[in-house]
Amino acid sequence: MDIEKEYIPKRAMSIQAHPDDQEFTIAGTLAKWARTGCEVVSVIVTSGDAGSNDPSQDAEYKPELARLREAEQSAASAVLGVRETIFLRYPDGELEPTLALRKDLTRLIRRYQPDVVVTGDPTRRFYSDDYINHPDHRAAASAACDAVFPSAGTRLIFTDLLAGGLEPHNVKRLYLHGAEKPNTWVDTSATIDVKIAALKKHASQIGDWDVDKEMRLWAAETGKEKGLTAAEAFKVMILVGEEDRG
Ligand SMILES: [Zn+2]
Repeated sequence: MDIEKEYIPKRAMSIQAHPDDQEFTIAGTLAKWARTGCEVVSVIVTSGDAGSNDPSQDAEYKPELARLREAEQSAASAVLGVRETIFLRYPDGELEPTLALRKDLTRLIRRYQPDVVVTGDPTRRFYSDDYINHPDHRAAASAACDAVFPSAGTRLIFTDLLAGGLEPHNVKRLYLHGAEKPNTWVDTSATIDVKIAALKKHASQIGDWDVDKEMRLWAAETGKEKGLTAAEAFKVMILVGEEDRG
């Protein structure tokens, strides 16, 4: 696989740890898919209630910050054309890839039946020489991958979901952003503006950071080796074989 020009899912689910993760990473791809009629659902595992170092605030601020960040995320999702945004409200900064989280994500995958799940790469711990991947990112991505396989598609895992009417569902493709060795580049030149507009909705996190400049630089850098002016890169796992694809 190389430059992704063809494949557009009918239904996609984005699973991310924090409000703003989606807008920083995969929003150009989601907006592109949504424009073609793909039904995109965003699942945000924490509500970002640790996302402030304001010295005048303490624990009492967390519920207020969570509400603010959910509102920012909902606004960003609307800009992208996301159909529905779901907040699981796990604690920000303290996330673990528990069975409870895997089960929550399994429930959502079975309910919404996405062709594609898009999440982070749970194996990435360090980026370059200056960024330690947030443990919440690894935890959310790890639980998402484990929900995609095996529990979403296996009848006798989490059987109370089955008893509740949620039949197994096989996700066709898993898209991982932030992978060390991507195999798929999505051309986002037509949606980079939408991505930037969505990211700007996260005003509490951006401060005076130059969103336009930095995001265009990043997209250009990602697309460069494929001759694209703007791109997002993924490691794509094709989980359902050609003959099974509907
Ligand atoms: Zn994050």
